[in-house]
Amino acid sequence: MIKIYISNIIYNIILNIIMDKDKYDVLIIGGGVSGTALFYVLSKYTDISSVALLEKYNKVAQVNSRGRNNSQTLHVGDIETNYPLEKAKIVKTAAMMIPTYVKKLHPDEQNKILFKVSKMVLAVAKDEVVQLEKRYEEIKELYPDLQKLDKRGIEKVEPNITKGRRENEEILALYTHDGYAVDYEMLAASFVKEVKRGANNWSNLFLGCKVKNIKRTDDVYQVATNQGVFKAGVVVVDADSYSLLFAKSLGYGNKFSLVPIAGNFYFSDRLLNGKVYTIQNKKLPFASVHGDPDVQVSNKTRWGPTAKFFPVLESGKLSTSVDYFKSAGLFRYCTAKSFIKILSDHTRFKYLVKNALYDLPLVGKILFLANIRKIVPSIKARDLKKAKGFGGMRLQRVDTETHELQLGEGRIIGNHIIFNMTPSPGASVCLFNAVRDTEEIMKFFNNKFSFDKYTMENECAGGYPCETNRSTSLDAYFS
Ligand SMILES: Cc1cc2nc3c(=O)[nH]c(=O)nc-3n(C[C@H](O)[C@H](O)[C@H](O)COP(=O)(O)OP(=O)(O)OC[C@H]3O[C@@H](n4cnc5c(N)ncnc54)[C@H](O)[C@@H]3O)c2cc1C
Repeated sequence: MIKIYISNIIYNIILNIIMDKDKYDVLIIGGGVSGTALFYVLSKYTDISSVALLEKYNKVAQVNSRGRNNSQTLHVGDIETNYPLEKAKIVKTAAMMIPTYVKKLHPDEQNKILFKVSKMVLAVAKDEVVQLEKRYEEIKELYPDLQKLDKRGIEKVEPNITKGRRENEEILALYTHDGYAVDYEMLAASFVKEVKRGANNWSNLFLGCKVKNIKRTDDVYQVATNQGVFKAGVVVVDADSYSLLFAKSLGYGNKFSLVPIAGNFYFSDRLLNGKVYTIQNKKLPFASVHGDPDVQVSNKTRWGPTAKFFPVLESGKLSTSVDYFKSAGLFRYCTAKSFIKILSDHTRFKYLVKNALYDLPLVGKILFLANIRKIVPSIKARDLKKAKGFGGMRLQRVDTETHELQLGEGRIIGNHIIFNMTPSPGASVCLFNAVRDTEEIMKFFNNKFSFDKYTMENECAGGYPCETNRSTSLDAYFS
């Protein structure tokens, strides 16, 4: 009996030693481009003693930040007609931190992350042309490189847009040859590499480390994983679509639900020289189709994304539908009422039904073709192939108290914990969000640590101030 008692004590002492070894100042959950950007900023520009990043897969950026799972666009607000001017200004500065960061790297590495590409937003038919003319006047000073192109101008840079188009169809475009595509997977890998290169040995990356639950006892977070329990004073959950699930488990964000929008793609032979977007519908900005060169697949044009209602948290992983239902709280009256209200909007309902049909064999492709013909009128169904293994999930938040759809990113700040939900343009503004979260972390620690924001701004923002009191999210809500 005494033997068992003593061995229990020894066991607990050993456990405590092990667990204290696993005590960190800051734990980041999720190794996508958001989590790795924060890992980089904390390790490089603060004196925080110990930071750990926990990622459930064996490589970073295998979910929405994966090269194949998003559209690889650096959104700076010039061709995003749904961004109000104020948002465009903030997103521009925030997104341009990525090229500034990348250009400091070795040229071989730069070439794997950042790609110069032309970008265009195309207006088709009178209403859109009028809208785009107005948009140009509004933003031309903010984007001096942006050119307004008529049919002739468009033909010179993207001949397939005018080829086969009806003579009397009006078109207009805003165009820049100075855009960027980004492989966000490679960017995330580079953040980790930079952390490892630094002198801070207390920054640890745990791959294959799946967080099961988070609890808070005695002012310390206990994060249970398949690799044991990690303790931390501060936790940042950068798990995108999973963040709300963790928030709810700790009593935060209960008023939110999620509309799961799957975005898939098609390939054709290369028909465009650069990225060509269509005008975004303000109620459904994630549904506007575009054609892009793919930074991982040469000589093709990638078309999409489609916008299909599909109840999972991770693309291609049916098993994650259980987590979706847990975090969406679909069976509550206020959630059901919000979904009915949001989906009873004629435009939205029509879009979602149409998009559900795009995945049907044979006819799906033909139905989707109409969207692409707006850009390349001469394209045929036989030119298109489904991009298997490409695509991601865009979980849009629903406020079940106001019954409104909240577009863009979301953030919940709790007691020494932050939960980030990061649909587009989350990847483009990952460094900006990392700065914003770092400032919040400093407040959590009552300024026990310091953040060298000045050096960070000089090195990653070209000396421009990161005005983190302003949000890059769409401030407009749509009911
Ligand atoms: C179709 C589509 C097109 C898009 N196009 C663009 C675009 O052109 N430009 C742009 O800026 N943005 C785009 N986005 C949005 C962009 O992909 C996201 O904003 C960005 O990837 C979010 O990064 P993240 O690190 O927050 O999330 P993710 O990349 O999803 O990373 C979350 C991480 O958390 C990990 N995780 C989850 N649960 C756990 C757990 N329990 N334990 C440990 N780890 C966990 C995951 O494995 C994952 O690595 C697009 C998105 C989609 C779906």
